[in-house]
Amino acid sequence: MNRFDLIVVGGGPGGIFAAITAAQRGFKVALLEKNKRIGNKILVAGSGKCNLTHIGKPKDFLTKYGTNGKFLKEALNKYSPESLKEFFKESGLPLTLVEESGKYFPETFSSLDVVNLLRGKMLNLKVEIIENLKIEKIEKTLDEFKVNTDLGTYLCKSLVLATGGKSYPGTGTTGDGYVMAKELGHKIIPPKPALTPIYVKDYIFQELSGISFQDVEIIIWKDNKKVIEKRGPVLLTHTNFSGPGILDNSRYVENGSFLEINYIDKDYESLNRELIDETNRDGKKAIKRVLLKYFLPERFVKTVLNRIDIDENLKLAELSKEKRESLAKYLTSNRMEITKVGSFEMAMVTRGGVSLDEVNPKTMESKKVKNLYLVGEILDIDGDTGGYNIQAACSMGVLAGKSMKKEERE
Ligand SMILES: Cc1cc2nc3c(=O)[nH]c(=O)nc-3n(C[C@H](O)[C@H](O)[C@H](O)COP(=O)(O)OP(=O)(O)OC[C@H]3O[C@@H](n4cnc5c(N)ncnc54)[C@H](O)[C@@H]3O)c2cc1C
Repeated sequence: MNRFDLIVVGGGPGGIFAAITAAQRGFKVALLEKNKRIGNKILVAGSGKCNLTHIGKPKDFLTKYGTNGKFLKEALNKYSPESLKEFFKESGLPLTLVEESGKYFPETFSSLDVVNLLRGKMLNLKVEIIENLKIEKIEKTLDEFKVNTDLGTYLCKSLVLATGGKSYPGTGTTGDGYVMAKELGHKIIPPKPALTPIYVKDYIFQELSGISFQDVEIIIWKDNKKVIEKRGPVLLTHTNFSGPGILDNSRYVENGSFLEINYIDKDYESLNRELIDETNRDGKKAIKRVLLKYFLPERFVKTVLNRIDIDENLKLAELSKEKRESLAKYLTSNRMEITKVGSFEMAMVTRGGVSLDEVNPKTMESKKVKNLYLVGEILDIDGDTGGYNIQAACSMGVLAGKSMKKEERE
């Protein structure tokens, strides 16, 4: 009979960790996945190397999810980055730290190893993994859930929705969970793409694709107010700004936002002053040569000079005050109008989702529907790049798996 203590919908890290935790407690668990195989998103994570978590304590993590971060306090405290590392170590796939970035990966740097390990764990715990199925409807009866699928009907006492968000739909996350949650009575905060490139009006770096800046200041402005200021790497592409620093900042972009990048570790006044001083010292120096001293790539310098209509061979002394100020401004604090962020197809996570007001952060249980749990990216929570999203999904999954009331099912 297709009757379980727990059905988990969605075979990503959130659902898998909920399934493992509940099964360890003796629950009869089924995991339902629409794809042919579970863990598609894990397979693409960290470019196939799987950045599972980050260096830091739970309190450091809580600052990485914007204002909604506090929702994760219980989950991250109960199942911390240390716990996740311990889990993989005990399972025979220890995590290794990449010092420069603070990111943790499996020691084999293989997402496939992670998925295989998780599948093996679930099978050992007798979790029934049912793949390649289509869920038609989820109904709540008085004391059970009825999950109607093209492979038959499944019944359960507890249900975990862990269907992820809407980004990277090719991996299976097409926003189905929002419909399911809504039908069960939940409010959905409109989903938006996040961790995605930023497009600006009059982008000038089309020819500089591949040039990157290691650690620059990035600011998002809205209505002349700073929304977020966050340093990080920036990558120029054919059409947009990308790289981890831009992706992280993209989470805060709204209609009418502006992007500011400081390519030089100086403010406008300091750079302007330095250019004046240099002119007084050696006015015959070509402006291009002066700018190269700031470790800017040559092709970038040429493009910026061209944009401000300054001949690259122009001598410092020949540079007008107006042009010098425009140049200093462009390099330190030029605000660019954001036209859009990358689509759901390019976004690594989804911002928005099931409203956090309606979920108990101490258990992950719905406040609307008894015995319904929601974990992972389906919720209105998203984090920076660096392992914060997978860690959050795992921590929420474990918290849900631990919180279900066992006595009613034994
Ligand atoms: C390219 C890319 C790289 C990334 N790299 C990293 C990284 O290195 N580190 C990191 O921390 N985060 C990374 N992320 C983000 C991270 O992968 C996700 O935030 C995380 O996987 C979310 O976990 P989840 O369990 O909530 O959902 P998901 O992992 O999205 O899993 C949801 C599952 O539910 C299934 N599903 C959906 N609808 C249905 C349905 N109707 N019926 C049954 N099953 C359904 C989906 O097929 C999917 O398998 C990356 C994301 C992308 C797109």
